[in-house]
Amino acid sequence: MSVFDQPDRRRIVARTPALSCLLFAAGIALAGETSVERSGNGVDLLQDTTDEGDARSSETSAAAEGLVEAVSAHEHDVPLADAVDTAEGQAAPLTLLGDEVPPGSSKRLSWSATELFEGVPVSTPVLVVNGAQPGPTLCLTAAVHGDELNGIEIVRRVLHDVDPERLSGALIGVPIVNVQGFRRGSRYLPDRRDLNRYFPGNPDGSAAARIAHALFSSVIAHCDALVDLHTGSFERANLPQIRADLRNPDVVTLTLGFGSMVVLHSEPTAGTLRHAATMAGIPAVTVEAGGPSQLEPAEVKHGAKGIETLLGTLGMVRKMRLWADPEPVYYRSSWVRADNGGILLANVSLGSSVRKGDLLGTITDPMSNVSSEVRSPHSGRVIGMARNQVVMPGFAAFHVGIQAVVEEETAPEPTQEPAHGGYVDGMSE
Ligand SMILES: [Zn+2]
Repeated sequence: MSVFDQPDRRRIVARTPALSCLLFAAGIALAGETSVERSGNGVDLLQDTTDEGDARSSETSAAAEGLVEAVSAHEHDVPLADAVDTAEGQAAPLTLLGDEVPPGSSKRLSWSATELFEGVPVSTPVLVVNGAQPGPTLCLTAAVHGDELNGIEIVRRVLHDVDPERLSGALIGVPIVNVQGFRRGSRYLPDRRDLNRYFPGNPDGSAAARIAHALFSSVIAHCDALVDLHTGSFERANLPQIRADLRNPDVVTLTLGFGSMVVLHSEPTAGTLRHAATMAGIPAVTVEAGGPSQLEPAEVKHGAKGIETLLGTLGMVRKMRLWADPEPVYYRSSWVRADNGGILLANVSLGSSVRKGDLLGTITDPMSNVSSEVRSPHSGRVIGMARNQVVMPGFAAFHVGIQAVVEEETAPEPTQEPAHGGYVDGMSE
């Protein structure tokens, strides 16, 4: 038993009337960018971009209405970096999901977004630590893709390690957002939709849009900042890294707070939780750590340490060890694809530094025994890569982060990746 083992068996109807109204008025921002993620190419994306694209666009645009108002409603008077210093008075009880968490205490709540066909609610825990001192509310979400396990363990560690008496502000953790995908070991919802393309959602839309809306209105709207935890997809693993839109000062504050973690500048894809939260005035970053379907201790430790460092740099926790060896910021990255099908064996590992022309891996046709080499078109660092596996031509195999300085030295030819957030296959959160 832990402090969170206080099952709340009441069914929570995850609707906030006020936000529902807000999410019903101006259809601009998100709709205009929906094509961004669809400009991603490659076989892996086909399941996401077939006949559902247009339906999703209209869902998203309807839901985006009123975001402008939501932003102003959530506008902060002070930068996130000063949130603790400027917090005044006593810590207040935190009201969430129809429950109340007093200052200086922890509680496990339950969020229920949807029902199974039988009409049985599918609920998922929401861990809340409300600090004894006032401050911002930081939210952690994991398993928006149901097969991404490392984040679930990161949320557990961080939430259970925090002492509410020593916390300024509040921590809210949703360890498993996509319960249905998690149960089936799948990235997707049961209807093959990618939940992370439907935020902020729509209460009258598809199942994905309804789940997205329920989470967004009942939990995310209560956050002052958000860290969404992911891993690589389709048997690819990512070096622990923060994906952040570095044009937003509060996002930069979040990003710098992690200490020693690689940063990849990326404009968020429309429909992602990161995009929707930031649009609503809640600065958000994505942390990618490791690959899907496995629990990887080193990646989990790295992610948890980064978030604990963030709590320290935001001032929410004092005396937390700081972890200050800064890692490089990559403003650009490029995917290196397989040109042949066959068995891919890597010659590099996550985090390897590579020069232009270096051998990244070989692909061998198991029938003809013909091998081909995959070489890096850029100097940089391997920040994501496929696990050894059988690949088809076009499979995105190695993700090379390109530092601005290196780029100037080598002047690489423009890559074919889309400019917007580098969305490639399922590799964008
Ligand atoms: Zn993901």
